[in-house]
Amino acid sequence: MINSLRGFRDLLPPESDLFARIEAAAREVFGLYGYQELRIPALEKKELFVKSTGGTTDIVEKEMYAFTDGGGREVAMRPEGTPGVVRAYIEHNLGQTGRNAKYFYIGGMYRAERPQAGRYREFTQIGAEYIGNPSPAADAESISMLVRLLEKAGVEGCSVEINSLGCGECRKAYREILLGHLRGCQETLCEPCRSRIERNPLRALDCKTDGPALAEKAPKLSLCPACAEHFGSTQKLLGTAGVAYKVNTSLVRGLDYYTRTVFEVRTTALGSQDAVAAGGRYDDLVKSMGGPAAPATGWAMGVDRVAMLLKDKPAPDNAPKTFIVAASKEAGEKAFALMTALRAEGISSDFSNFELSLRSQMRSADKSGACFALIIGEDELKAGACAVKSLKVPGDQKMIPLSGAPSAIKRLLKV
Ligand code: ATP
Ligand code: MG
Repeated sequence: MINSLRGFRDLLPPESDLFARIEAAAREVFGLYGYQELRIPALEKKELFVKSTGGTTDIVEKEMYAFTDGGGREVAMRPEGTPGVVRAYIEHNLGQTGRNAKYFYIGGMYRAERPQAGRYREFTQIGAEYIGNPSPAADAESISMLVRLLEKAGVEGCSVEINSLGCGECRKAYREILLGHLRGCQETLCEPCRSRIERNPLRALDCKTDGPALAEKAPKLSLCPACAEHFGSTQKLLGTAGVAYKVNTSLVRGLDYYTRTVFEVRTTALGSQDAVAAGGRYDDLVKSMGGPAAPATGWAMGVDRVAMLLKDKPAPDNAPKTFIVAASKEAGEKAFALMTALRAEGISSDFSNFELSLRSQMRSADKSGACFALIIGEDELKAGACAVKSLKVPGDQKMIPLSGAPSAIKRLLKV
């Protein structure tokens, strides 16, 4: 017996249905906002993530599934989607298509972190990236699209927190101020933070252990006039879009590439794994990865966590509408034709095994959750008909001719 790996799981019904529902809601919303799908590889060159996500981030430093493949290449399973999208944008000159470079992706991400409820080593993200638009309208559109998507999927009770990390200039000044502050309280920092504040002081504020307490006491970043205006306009437009949000000046994100707007969507319903989605603007990333100067903004949503939030919502009934039962080999052939015709008319249909006894087939019909059993016994076979037995209303049974059966069943199902 070979089990699955820790942190890697099988998605079984009904949870797999939940994932499909969330993805369908996402595709619908993306269509409304002009986003097109990109399918990017799960495996990339390791340096793609080191250079973009950042070498001092937890994701790259501790959580990445990186290895040398059989050909001696340093590769890594993608821990997030943005680097792959940016690589594809550059590699295929997507800035030249004449259409907005608005892309979404849906797929598995891989991080070797400690598995627990809402935290897995393989998990699904739905992400959106808008490359090429520096304006606050792009930020506001991206965030409001995420909020609409969560609403569409049926998620309630989420809160949006936003902040601005400023541009490279604002950050350069802040880096020194923050570094001074952190050096002053080094003994209160956890070991990993102590060793990386010189390389990346901002990272300490996003530390899982003492980040929140630090962020509260640390000096705040002050924005240059252009960044302040950008942040103000973004907020105004979020208001126009009817998005409720809170400014949290302690919010920093765990990735290196963010500039200006960053945000997180949280819920109180998931305990410590409370982040449902997060994202922000990354104006310098495309250029730093060897592409054209292309300001961008995006986010990623954790589908596993959204599915947890929706677990107790009634799922649409995906039981077959009809269950076909046949009494003999000959009746089985008619039954098979009937199923084919029903499905062609959009009526879901299932069966067990026409070679089993009628009693056994009827037991399966009862368990299937179908509305009607359609039975072709010896009498029905002779009459070119089938018996329609309601599995919901006891004693409700009638005969209908096989020809025209799909329309008759449709009427009975009121579809
Ligand atoms: P967290 O603070 O929970 O570790 P994160 O900041 O690492 O989240 P991001 O990299 O911003 O997460 O990814 C966006 C979303 O992906 C998160 O808000 C979360 O919903 C989901 N996510 C991240 N890591 C995992 C994981 N290991 N298992 C399940 N979902 C995850
Ligand atoms: Mg994390």
